[in-house]
Amino acid sequence: MLNLNKYYIDGQWLNNTNGNVLDVINPATEIAITQVACGDIEHVNAAVSSAKKAFPVWLNTSSKTRSDIIKKIASEMERRQDELVTAVSQTMGCPEHIASWLQIEGAIYAMALFADHTAITETQEQGDKCIIVKEAIGVCGFINPWNFPLHQFVGKVGAALAAGCTMVVKPSEQTPIQDFIMAEIIASVLAEFNAPAGVFNLVPGTGPVVGDALSRHADIDMISFTGSTGAGIKVAQAAAPTVKRVMQELGGKSPFIITPDANLADAVKYGVEDVMLNSGQSCNTLARMLVPQALYDEAVSLAQTIAQSLKIGMTKDAFLGPVSSKSHQDRVLSYIQLGIDEGAKLVCGGLERPEGLDKGFYIKPTIFANVHNKMRIAQEEIFGPVLCIIPYKTMDEAIEIANDTPFGLSSAVFAKDDKAAIKIATKIRAGQCMINGGEFNYSAPFGGYKQSGNGREFTAMGVEEFLETKAIIYTTNTCEEGE
Ligand code: NAD
Repeated sequence: MLNLNKYYIDGQWLNNTNGNVLDVINPATEIAITQVACGDIEHVNAAVSSAKKAFPVWLNTSSKTRSDIIKKIASEMERRQDELVTAVSQTMGCPEHIASWLQIEGAIYAMALFADHTAITETQEQGDKCIIVKEAIGVCGFINPWNFPLHQFVGKVGAALAAGCTMVVKPSEQTPIQDFIMAEIIASVLAEFNAPAGVFNLVPGTGPVVGDALSRHADIDMISFTGSTGAGIKVAQAAAPTVKRVMQELGGKSPFIITPDANLADAVKYGVEDVMLNSGQSCNTLARMLVPQALYDEAVSLAQTIAQSLKIGMTKDAFLGPVSSKSHQDRVLSYIQLGIDEGAKLVCGGLERPEGLDKGFYIKPTIFANVHNKMRIAQEEIFGPVLCIIPYKTMDEAIEIANDTPFGLSSAVFAKDDKAAIKIATKIRAGQCMINGGEFNYSAPFGGYKQSGNGREFTAMGVEEFLETKAIIYTTNTCEEGE
């Protein structure tokens, strides 16, 4: 096991001298597997100061070098893939065989793709007596959640390296291990390319201390936050007095419209598996399934059969592991109780522990029928293996229900063909729409409308978030003289 009782600041590993540590608990066993350093404001100040010092040098590193660095990081991630899988699986509870493709392979692929976007800073646009230049915004602070810890790390760090920014990263308290593996990889690759100390810094700690200090630091030019909408608001409030750029990737309550002419069995299977994957702890999970009234009973029965067939546990045949922590298990169970109290029909799952699993923060795949979209279980993010099935009478009503949410992260449509589904997708107010079984795609920008956040991650658009635009304005004479 890696030693996590340290910080990576100014190109060096520093031992934790304040004695503050946090337990890292395996949610499948409920046992602490290690401890991680818990930083304070001094660590943040030292890391930001180093990132600020490194920025002017790193900014002038060629786009080719930044691209080579990113490619090398991706290949080192591939070499250490098994360690990354184990780290994520043991701390957030995703069975290894699923974590391998869901949490790790995609993230490595996404890191490699950022190598194609470094030249974005070399493009200059010629306007009328002006040149428009794009350059890195500066020092960035990154705050990440536990549910896709490597994927979120890559969406921020890969894009920032491509843009030419320097950075300070704070992992989630619950899932720090893969960030330490990544810090080892990035440190050695940056050293190999003679990059200045301070391009990358890692400061583990709590949200209210390290996350808050990053958000309000005057020398941080941009904060990119992924997490709950509540914490995202606090980050934006702390950042406001220093007028830094704030990017927020927040929660969701995504709708899934099944049309009357769709293949119902395929659609329901897709929807149920989507919600139960990662134990429902995906920001873009399709938590509200909207089904035509005439097909409602059939859809509920299909959903029940599928949910009850999914194996729970950490074995090779398991589909869903535990949820991430005891407090999160309590939260999800309280929402299941709320659904019962609000009058929704509990079709399967519920409050009882799954049979044969005496330890671990497990929750059975749970389905509620007879859900009205105004119920709290349909409006609030539960972030667990809980599906709400909602009936609709007309397509207009389905679209109205789909959009009747404070969130707008993702959505899905199953219809008789892609053309019909795309027509519906254009009316949904969300950052993504999956058509007839579409899957997460690293060539598509990711981010939310409304209270799901702002900004986009991945692709060239994800790199542009880390750029400033400078207009160099000249008189024709001056420019000609300079030629
Ligand atoms: P969380 O908001 O509890 O914590 C996220 C991070 O914020 C952690 O690192 C935490 O330490 C930090 N934090 C907490 N309070 C803070 C504060 N006051 N100031 C600064 N930082 C603070 O979220 P979580 O439980 O770790 O993750 C689950 C949430 O993340 C869900 O709401 C999910 O939808 C969201 N999420 C969104 C996306 C997306 O791309 N939109 C992706 C993954 C997860």
